[in-house]
Amino acid sequence: MKVLVINSGSSSLKYKLFDLAGPRAICAGLVERIGSSQSSLAHTLYPDSGPGEKSEIFECFETHTQAIEKVAELLMAGDDPLVRSAQELLAIGHRVAQGGEFFKANCIVDEKAIEGIRQNIVLAPLHNPANLAGIEAAMAHFPGVPSVAVFDTLFAGSLPDYVYRVALPAAFYKDFKVRRYGFHGTSHAYVTRKLADLMEKPLDNLNNIVCHLGNGSSMTAVKGGICRETSMGMTPTSGLIMGTRCGDIDPSLPAYLSSCTGKSAAEIQTILDRESGLLGICGMNDMRDIHKAISQGDDNARLAFEMLCHGIKKYIGAYYAVLGRLDAIAFTAGIGENDSQVREKCLEGLEHLGIIVDQELNAGLRGKSGRISTHDSAVEVWVVPTDEELEIATICKDLVTA
Ligand code: ADP
Repeated sequence: MKVLVINSGSSSLKYKLFDLAGPRAICAGLVERIGSSQSSLAHTLYPDSGPGEKSEIFECFETHTQAIEKVAELLMAGDDPLVRSAQELLAIGHRVAQGGEFFKANCIVDEKAIEGIRQNIVLAPLHNPANLAGIEAAMAHFPGVPSVAVFDTLFAGSLPDYVYRVALPAAFYKDFKVRRYGFHGTSHAYVTRKLADLMEKPLDNLNNIVCHLGNGSSMTAVKGGICRETSMGMTPTSGLIMGTRCGDIDPSLPAYLSSCTGKSAAEIQTILDRESGLLGICGMNDMRDIHKAISQGDDNARLAFEMLCHGIKKYIGAYYAVLGRLDAIAFTAGIGENDSQVREKCLEGLEHLGIIVDQELNAGLRGKSGRISTHDSAVEVWVVPTDEELEIATICKDLVTA
């Protein structure tokens, strides 16, 4: 029972092939710089055991279709191919950034779904066209294999209106679909379910906060498996300070900056998304580099670290209040899974809220799941590695075999 998961960005395409009988990842890869003469494909084969085997192919991929054709060739070539024929694929799952209010559920892609994803391009002009290109290329190359659209915004579709509405003139919601959507939904949903399993608690009786801290970061407050708050908004620029995105800022800032610099709205937006966040503060967006710089006395790196941790702490306090009762906090994604210093700093001084970190457990945990709070901590704190691709593959199986 094999499922191929595709995550196509504006100039990239990630893929991962699963055998859901395990479940087990068979291979994964990344095509980068699609459209440029320097595009490349890195393909990693996961053997049953032992380290993965990586190969790189340098080729010019003009389009997502060409990239998918190459992926198909890699999967289906040789005497003992990973996929013998298209019929061996149960489904192809696609991560789609923006489902808007059009999609109330993940779905098997048909004409109507394609039209819906197209209509939402206005809300995600960088992501949805790329997602659509990936879907159309996969459908053309693997006719007869169902394509499934899994929306990044869906988990936050349960937000109450007083959370998702934005306090601007009401017509903007109706005319221009201005509201909070939230992103990283597959990760927040997967981690919440895993957390319930790890705590051996029924999901419908779990109140938790998920801190998805990667290059892009977001937090959610979840009650009984249902998302009640999210730090991301109309776009993924809002919320926490991220690798290169500014997170929450004074809404008057873009106009002020435009008048100071003479830059257009689009140019200012690029600065907010690509030149801000940790990178803007200290010139680095990878936490590993930031820690190294802090140890060498770099005060801008210290500032970036403290700003990030303070922001996470503020959201924890706010979400605790929203949930009323908090059972657990889960840390996930690149920083959340690996960076014990960020976890320690953002939870520092919260003992009076019943959040007590076990310093030794925390320091020793990297890249795998485990509890990092003390036994007498009223709120349990866990590290839960995310697996968005596996979540998409599982959704595919559930939809296609329903
Ligand atoms: P995204 O999916 O948003 O691109 P990831 O979840 O892969 O991001 O996280 C990438 C980030 O995780 C890196 O930019 C880096 O800041 C952080 N990271 C990865 N490994 C470590 C580590 N060992 N220690 C601290 N931070 C790490």
